[in-house]
Amino acid sequence: MSLLIIENLLIKETTKIPIYEYTCMECDEDTEITRGFNDQEEVPSCTNGHKMVRSYTAPGIQFKGSGFYKTDNG
Ligand SMILES: [Zn+2]
Repeated sequence: MSLLIIENLLIKETTKIPIYEYTCMECDEDTEITRGFNDQEEVPSCTNGHKMVRSYTAPGIQFKGSGFYKTDNG
């Protein structure tokens, strides 16, 4: 394994781009938007032209029971 790969992995871990999820209440359609440097409040529209609303989800954080405690009981 080369050092370059490890460095890339570290960079991926530390630079997390915030992802915002928008949902259309009428069509139940959702989309993800990444906001980085330009943080303008722009509301996306669905394919039918409705205004979408922000839905707050936390990607990567899941409390799904047993697996979470595995480290303690080995
Ligand atoms: Zn819609």
